[in-house]
Formats: sequence, structure tokens, C-alpha cells
Amino acid sequence: PPDVVTFGETMAALRAHGALRLGGTLGLSVAGAESNVAIGLARLGHRVRWAGRVGADELGALVLRTLRAEGIDTGHAVTDDTGRPTGLLLTEPRLGTLTRVSYYRAGSAGSAVSPVDVLAALDAGTRVLHLTGITPALSTSGAEAALAAATTARDAGITVCLDVNYRSRLWTADRARTALRPLLLYTDLLIASEDELPLVLEQPGAGESEAVSRLLAAGVDEVVVKRGARGATAFTADGATDSAARQVDAVDLVGAGDAFVAGYLSGLLDGTHIPARLHRAVTTAAFAVATRGDWEGLPTKDELGLLDQPDGMTIR
Ligand code: ATP
Repeated sequence: PPDVVTFGETMAALRAHGALRLGGTLGLSVAGAESNVAIGLARLGHRVRWAGRVGADELGALVLRTLRAEGIDTGHAVTDDTGRPTGLLLTEPRLGTLTRVSYYRAGSAGSAVSPVDVLAALDAGTRVLHLTGITPALSTSGAEAALAAATTARDAGITVCLDVNYRSRLWTADRARTALRPLLLYTDLLIASEDELPLVLEQPGAGESEAVSRLLAAGVDEVVVKRGARGATAFTADGATDSAARQVDAVDLVGAGDAFVAGYLSGLLDGTHIPARLHRAVTTAAFAVATRGDWEGLPTKDELGLLDQPDGMTIR
């Protein structure tokens, strides 16, 4: 069985070098929060399965080929046979590290992911199921798939990780709360940005420590709060552990959160304690921030130490 199972929508990503409205050349890649995490974990040597849905088109083939090339098991991925296309996103660098992203995912194959698609992928012996709050935002069947996977994983003793990953363009905070609260009942490890914590509380308005206490009281074992360039904090019943971010020159912030999750889960799978999980998480996130692309610059296990090398060094 795989160490980690994840699913969600992975799209073709067209990357412009300047403003889209000026035209010019685009680079073609793939992107999706869950598959970014999957790639990060596979590079660190873990066995990962990705079980989303793609269109029966060339971009769907690109998604599956890319994930396979990264060593991810796509044997349970579904190719949609009802004519829904693979989703698409366009990115344009606008100002410094500020990037604008446009999505073409309404009616996509990925958003039609359903419980039957994903339940078959959850083998006994899987250690972690990774979900994001994007999948329930995509469609009713996506929400059902996330909930079915979480309940099945809980019954099977599989650790459930949920990254809130709120996307305001997909749904309102109220709709997100209604869909995410039930998932929380089956979540062991919750990962959120500072501003996302209110989204998973029954009544928003609590400060961070109050919000975290309520989540821990509701049965979540571990709450990890991401704070951008200020690092992250992990909370458990034993208290809080802070980690600073790694100092790097930021080139492209997209994908930092997913890289962080990959590093954190990698530490968990390797049986390390919370400070070491956080250290690996801020390290993999720093690779994402310091390189272009959502996942392209993520490190292998051998490369994790590169950030400790002096700047300007040549590796021979
Ligand atoms: P995204 O959704 O864009 O992927 P996010 O909002 O989920 O990101 P952030 O809190 O912005 O997540 O970033 C995640 C982690 O990435 C941080 O905890 C930190 O370790 C690292 N990080 C973010 N920005 C920087 C930076 N400028 N320099 C170094 N590390 C950073």
C-alpha cells in the first residue's frame, strides 16, 4: 500500500512571462494543490498515490504523465468518459512576486470527482489521507468524495490531514464553513493559514488561541498554522511549537503552502517529533518560494541540506 493517498483537481497550467493581455509565449505545466503535495512527498522518497479525475484529452494525458514521471501511483486515477475537459489555469507575473491566476475549471473532469473514484484508492495499510478544502468547493460530488474518504480513512485507522486552502473565488466563507465542519470530525491533522482558522469554527470571531483550543477539544490532534514569511506554529494538547521561516530570496510564492504540507507529512511519516516536522516543512516551503513554478523546485531528500550551504557555492 502507498504511504499517502491524495486526490483533487490537477489542471494544465499555462504560464505567461508578462501580462496575458499582451499575448506572447506560454509555458505548459500542471498544477493542483493535492498533486503538488504528492510530488513533494514522492521527491522525499515516500510512496504516494493520486486518485483524481482528468479529461480524456491531451491535457489529461499531460497531468497523468507528469505525476507518473514524478514516481506517483496514478493507477486509480479516473479518465472521464463523458466529455468533460481537463481544467486549465493561466498565470501571469504582475509585480515582483505578485502573480495573477485565472481558472477555467467550471464543468471540468477534475471537479466531477466522486466517492467511487476515490474510495477504491484507499488501501488498507495506507498511513495518511491528504485532503484539501478545494475539493469540496468544486462540486457536490467533490464534497461527497472528501467526506466519504475521510470517514473511510478514520474507520481504517488512516491519519486524515486536511489543508483548509480556502479559495474565495470558488465559494463564500459561510459555504466553506458548512462543508468543512463535518470533515473536521474525521480530521487528525489540520493545516491552515492564520486567516483560515475562523472558517472551520462553528462561530467565527474567536482569537487564534481560543480557535485552536476549540479545534483540539473537537478531536483534532494537531493544528498547524502557517504564517507566510513569519513561519508556522504547531499546536497539540501538549502546547505550541513555533518555527521561523527559512531566509531565502522569494521568487514565486505560489505552492509554498503545499510544499510546507509535503515537508510536514514527510516528517510525520518518518516518525519525527513536531520540531523536526516543522523544520522540514519550512525547508521544503523555502524551496518552493525560492524557485519558479508550484512544484518544479521541490527538493529530494538529498537536497534538503542545500539551504545550509553558503550562498554562491558550486556543487561538483
Ligand atoms: P499558498 O496558498 O500561496 O501556497 P499559504 O498561504 O498556504 O501559501 P504561507 O503561509 O504563505 O502558505 O506559506 C507557507 C510556508 O511557506 C510558511 O509557513 C513559510 O515556511 C514558507 N514561506 C512563505 N513565504 C516565505 C518567504 N517569503 N520566505 C521564506 N519562507 C516563506
